[in-house]
Amino acid sequence: QGTIAGICSNRIDALARQEKERFAAARPRTRAALDTGADHFLDGVPMHWMRDWPMPFPMLVAEARGARLTDIDGHVIDDFCLGDTGSMFGHSPEPVAQAIRTQADIGLTYMLPTEAALRAASLLTETFGDFRWQIATTASDANRFALRIARAVTAKAKVIVFHGCYHGAVDDSMVELHQGQTRTRPGLAGQVTDLAGLAIACEFNDLNSVESALQTGEVAAILTEPVMTNSCMVLPEPGFLDGLRALATQYGALLIIDETHTLSSGLGGYTGVHGLDPDIFVVGKCVAGGMPTAVWGLRPAVAKAWRTYDDTRPGGHSGMGTTLSANPMQFACLAATLSQVMTAEAYAHMETGAERLASGLADSIARHGAPWHVVRVGARVEFICAPGPLKNGTEAATAHKPELEAAIHTALLNRGCLIAPFHNMMLVSPVTSNEQIDRLIAAFDDILTELLA
Ligand code: PMP
Repeated sequence: QGTIAGICSNRIDALARQEKERFAAARPRTRAALDTGADHFLDGVPMHWMRDWPMPFPMLVAEARGARLTDIDGHVIDDFCLGDTGSMFGHSPEPVAQAIRTQADIGLTYMLPTEAALRAASLLTETFGDFRWQIATTASDANRFALRIARAVTAKAKVIVFHGCYHGAVDDSMVELHQGQTRTRPGLAGQVTDLAGLAIACEFNDLNSVESALQTGEVAAILTEPVMTNSCMVLPEPGFLDGLRALATQYGALLIIDETHTLSSGLGGYTGVHGLDPDIFVVGKCVAGGMPTAVWGLRPAVAKAWRTYDDTRPGGHSGMGTTLSANPMQFACLAATLSQVMTAEAYAHMETGAERLASGLADSIARHGAPWHVVRVGARVEFICAPGPLKNGTEAATAHKPELEAAIHTALLNRGCLIAPFHNMMLVSPVTSNEQIDRLIAAFDDILTELLA
């Protein structure tokens, strides 16, 4: 028997088996409900990726409050997944819930703005900086539209993305490096175009690879997260993000910073905290407290270039849209979140809690002598079942240990802690308590003890 990440494979198999059985045995109501209702969905789930949770069947949530979920079998779970960032500020923050109740009485969608829209726009500028804003419903949409603008104003075709990135269901970003070449990710369903015609994959933290791509003269934009959060977490090395900014300027490409996850960094996102200077700023998920909303903003110079372009393009569809976007419910929730939820005090609590979590997990790893490490970006913490720090997407892919991680996730859930699926990400909200954090650390430690026994 071999080992994975310093753990005997047979121990991982035993833990996985035991925890799956335990999960299922504790959820008779969930099992019965799924048996009667799930078949109406394609593959039994409302979104196909819900099959990728590691549990033998999905948990059915009865309710969520603060940083806690209750499932229909009555299990109360400390929630560190927080809708994988959609609920990073806690479930149904009261100002947002109140805004929803008020708006619910006066209409849900108009195709016209409101006074709250104007308030939200000025709050966006106050929070994130001098951008000209647009509203979308998902960060995927926001990134797609940002890319259209970048191509329109630069008259160039390609986007640089980083190997191992994720920016949502955005075709252009679904490429990878394979033997040094950009290729379409092989897992894409129903893919008919070669995405290497639209994008160039580079390695994160490698300015030389970015400069080579820019030298083709074909690059409209660099689309990146400031920290790679969608593989095992990779931090930018000193000078990397400044280098991207300088190279983008030098070669006439736009720098699009996708803050959808790194909004965990603090007020104004990673951009605000670290003084980045993107041409286009994108953020979604929790920006309106959990109401489906994303925002994307252009620097005034880019907005001006777009105006010139737009004035001369032939009429007709722009390729940017979606009818239900920029609806009054989104604005009510945006204004409530930006003014009352996404506050310096909230971030201070998140930061302190996340530091407590990260150091607790790191101590446990050190005590057990596991060859693992912990990374943190503000309120976002991840344990990685490999030594660190990781430098790029290739190293992150190697560090990812799906079977081991799946067993740990289910084991954590059976000990009352939910973390984000697919990798080992945990979020600390403004309402997450030290007791919850300590329970997660203890559960993690207990599992490591079992794995290494
Ligand atoms: N950008 C980043 C960095 C993301 O992590 C994600 C989703 N995980 C998205 C964009 C897309 O968000 P959504 O699924 O809400 O469209």
